[in-house]
Amino acid sequence: MKNEILRTEKMEIVSQLASSISHEVRNPLTVVKGFLQLMRDSNLPPEKRNEFLKISISELDRANSIIGDYLAFAKPSQERQENLCINVELEKTVEVITPLANMNSVTVKVHSISEELFIKGEKQLLQQCLLNITKNCIEAMPKGGELTLGITRNDNDILLHISDTGVGMSEEQLKKIGEPYFSTKGEAGTGLGMMTSLRIIQSMGGSLKITSQENKGTNFELCFPIVKK
Ligand code: ADP
Ligand code: MG
Repeated sequence: MKNEILRTEKMEIVSQLASSISHEVRNPLTVVKGFLQLMRDSNLPPEKRNEFLKISISELDRANSIIGDYLAFAKPSQERQENLCINVELEKTVEVITPLANMNSVTVKVHSISEELFIKGEKQLLQQCLLNITKNCIEAMPKGGELTLGITRNDNDILLHISDTGVGMSEEQLKKIGEPYFSTKGEAGTGLGMMTSLRIIQSMGGSLKITSQENKGTNFELCFPIVKK
């Protein structure tokens, strides 16, 4: 099953999202503020206090995820495009993601390439993109598994392969991936991570291919033009 994604019409919706997202972050903050005010009451029974604390923490977690998945995107582009060494960038991602993988019984494997290869982009955006994708992979393996990252090349392009041995996606889900707010994770999901990643890949002149098999796993293939130095 293959799904090539470069759907500009979906991207247009995205520009209208900023205001709705700040709204979404504000909601949990308002809830937390309300509970904090209630907790001022010194006669509050301890079990109520605990309940309010629990809700407040989960609301703050939610605000944090929304900001986390969306951060790079919400920031105005700073036109800081530079030549990025893909080998170095991949290593950085691995460094950041490994602790999270370990916590979830996921083994990380890396197949780098000896040749130093460069692509054009903004460092922080590329990291956000790779982080959103690898985080999803880890989340797709609740019982643990393998996260594999690799680089290959052809004449003009660098191919970045990211794969997991997780739950996979149905054809229907695969079609929806990258749509703003599409998530199968209920309360825990934001549905903003893949949209942000796609947007970033697109801004770098790249493309994304996803193949997935339910209960087997998912492969992401990111393709970026090689910068001739
Ligand atoms: P979120 O992770 O908050 O749900 P994303 O935009 O990051 O939002 O991902 C959207 C949806 O795409 C996920 O909810 C999940 O259904 C699907 N998805 C993304 N990556 C994977 C993966 N590696 N394996 C299985 N499903 C995935
Ligand atoms: Mg995600």
